[in-house]
Amino acid sequence: MEGPDPSEPTGPGPSPQRQARLFALLYSAEEVQHRSRQIYDEMLARSPNLQTGNFTRIGPDDLERLFAAYDREFFRGRLSEMLLEDRALPMDFRLSGRLVRAAGMTTRLTRPVRNLGQGKGNRNSELEYEYEISVSTTLLFGTFRDVERAVSVGGLEVHDRLEALQRIFEHELLHLAEFLGWGKSNCRAANFRALSRRIFAHEAAYHDLVTPREQAVVAHGITVGDRVTFEHEGIRRVGRVNRITRRASILVESPDGRLFSDGKRYLTFYVPLPMLQKLT
Ligand SMILES: [Zn+2]
Repeated sequence: MEGPDPSEPTGPGPSPQRQARLFALLYSAEEVQHRSRQIYDEMLARSPNLQTGNFTRIGPDDLERLFAAYDREFFRGRLSEMLLEDRALPMDFRLSGRLVRAAGMTTRLTRPVRNLGQGKGNRNSELEYEYEISVSTTLLFGTFRDVERAVSVGGLEVHDRLEALQRIFEHELLHLAEFLGWGKSNCRAANFRALSRRIFAHEAAYHDLVTPREQAVVAHGITVGDRVTFEHEGIRRVGRVNRITRRASILVESPDGRLFSDGKRYLTFYVPLPMLQKLT
């Protein structure tokens, strides 16, 4: 049979050969379960932070560990090989408290590199990429805390934080794989779905982890639109909950405030949820 051998490296940049190498990865649902359970056990055994499935501490080094394990168990080392070809190894891993909707994020940063030492007048510059995967600690630590219900990520039920982290990370690795193979990535498109079924047996590309909004309802009984009171620099204020992220943003009517679309002026306060008292 003609055609590239998917087990051979192909050189830098997205290419049909890389796409073939990624599409050649295929695991049955049982295999996926077995391999991801192995990674689960390995994380608990090796990480100084993760003591149990519902860990309360995590570091960026845990994401590095996860990456190494997944690249080995699911990608046959192809991710780090492609990153290396693209001079994008090591990549960056971050834990972010700011992600409050998305559970993770994979970004590709572009930087131009000037070719040096190739004679006078050579102004050719090529692009180099850097990759970063962020995982939301707000969602991870908000889940399996006060809210008791079934939680799913990628269409699969997860039973603790480490399982949730694994499903989130798997989704982000698929974004990375698409960037490396295709030069772009979209988890709502057919290509992503096909890859995610072949490699991770994911059924969907969404999660229902506990968001700060849901957390606020269960732990503090507070929802958007509630009238609340709180103390700020010695002054008791009364306002309405406008948004809930890590803190609640409260609009307090005041002649010094900004004009809003309802024709009134409001000051905005960002208040930690435990400091709010609900008014009826
Ligand atoms: Zn996505």
